[in-house]
Amino acid sequence: LSSRLQMAMRRITGRGKLNESDIDEMMREVRLSLLEADVNFKVVKQFTANVKEKAIGEKILKGLNPGQQVVKVVHDELKSIMGEEAVPLMFENTGITTFMTIGLQGSGKTTSIGKLGVYLRKNYKKKVMFIAADVYRPAAIEQLITIGKQIGIEVYDEGIKDARKIVKNGLEYAKKNGYEVVIIDTAGRLHIDEEMMQELVDVKKLANPTEILLTVDAMTGQDAAQIAKSFHDQLNATGAILTKLDGDTRGGAALSIREVSGIPIKFMSSGEKMDTFEPFHPERMASRILGMGDVLTLIEKATEAIDEDEAKNMMERMMSDKFNYYDLLKQFKMIKRMGSISKILGFIPGMGNIKKAASQIDDKQFDKMAIIISSMTEAEKKNPELIDKASSRRQRIAKGAGVSVSDVNNLRQALEAQKKMVKTMSNMSEDDLKRLEKD
Ligand code: GDP
Ligand code: MG
Repeated sequence: LSSRLQMAMRRITGRGKLNESDIDEMMREVRLSLLEADVNFKVVKQFTANVKEKAIGEKILKGLNPGQQVVKVVHDELKSIMGEEAVPLMFENTGITTFMTIGLQGSGKTTSIGKLGVYLRKNYKKKVMFIAADVYRPAAIEQLITIGKQIGIEVYDEGIKDARKIVKNGLEYAKKNGYEVVIIDTAGRLHIDEEMMQELVDVKKLANPTEILLTVDAMTGQDAAQIAKSFHDQLNATGAILTKLDGDTRGGAALSIREVSGIPIKFMSSGEKMDTFEPFHPERMASRILGMGDVLTLIEKATEAIDEDEAKNMMERMMSDKFNYYDLLKQFKMIKRMGSISKILGFIPGMGNIKKAASQIDDKQFDKMAIIISSMTEAEKKNPELIDKASSRRQRIAKGAGVSVSDVNNLRQALEAQKKMVKTMSNMSEDDLKRLEKD
């Protein structure tokens, strides 16, 4: 299909302007591609109609041809529907955080609970306990106990058939024993039925969970949307875990779930091993669903041309001594998009890939700094010296951003460091730069 799409694109290429029939031609290919990814057909219809409208209004970016531009619009739209970024888990401020899993039998609840437990312990340093409340299949409790043993997480179970009672007692036990997060395993069925739903509704009432996580097997394709909706209508899921992405499915389920039920997909699971679990990546999923790897690579390359212009402007700003917090924010966004400052510097002739100079700032820091900058007045953003002069300004900004004054000072240092770095480098000789690059 990919090559068919490229053919369609080539037909458009070379023309200056994108007209409606060009878009229609591309949209036929996009529609086929989505259906091949097993996206729900209603979702496909709605989606392509929306995108078509967007594509018509869109200016063609420098560095892209019209066909590529259409694919870019489609890709961006897929990304934005599935959420630009993964939605993080919620936690209680005080007391125990409870996660309840729901989903059809075999969708991967029990396995995902194990994985989530490992993930929470590793990334959040939480003390986690599981409650085995799938009382219909004795093997289900055994399965959770086995997983718990394997990863060293305690499993609460009772030799009884009353899920409601187990959950109630389990939560009390967790409280007494200082657990911070409790994950409840529940019963699923092969199909949704009344009795199961009622039990889940009761357990929900009892546990008042922080999050209700719906596991959906990605291999169920377009049925996923309907399954998700049925659960969601009665239980209000707060997030979904998409499982079995290691299979050969293109992952159309992700789009269908999001479009039909609105539940944000929070995690993806891709294997039987406990470490095959990670936050959902909308970008990667969009590419996978479109299934046009080569076309997207092409677009990425073309988009770099735009980045190059921007990077050059940015460097000029940095060298001009007028570099302010507006510029810094712009730079953060650029770095976030392009991956690293060394990549931006790489566009500047003679600077190559200066790895040493590439200060490693992670995403969390970026976000924090962005918040601090947004708490500044317009004048402060444009004139960093205002903040340097008055400690009352620093205090006000810290308060507004909900951070400490030392965080504000770190940001000031970051601005200075960037300016200094560029100055140092612009004074270096070609040889110095080459040496730096080698280190
Ligand atoms: P539950 O009935 O919803 O609790 O589902 P289980 O956790 O018992 O999973 C059902 C089957 O799917 C088991 O054989 C799991 O090993 C398997 N499974 C779960 N998640 C994944 C996954 O991400 N990838 C693969 N390949 N298998 C999975
Ligand atoms: Mg299970």
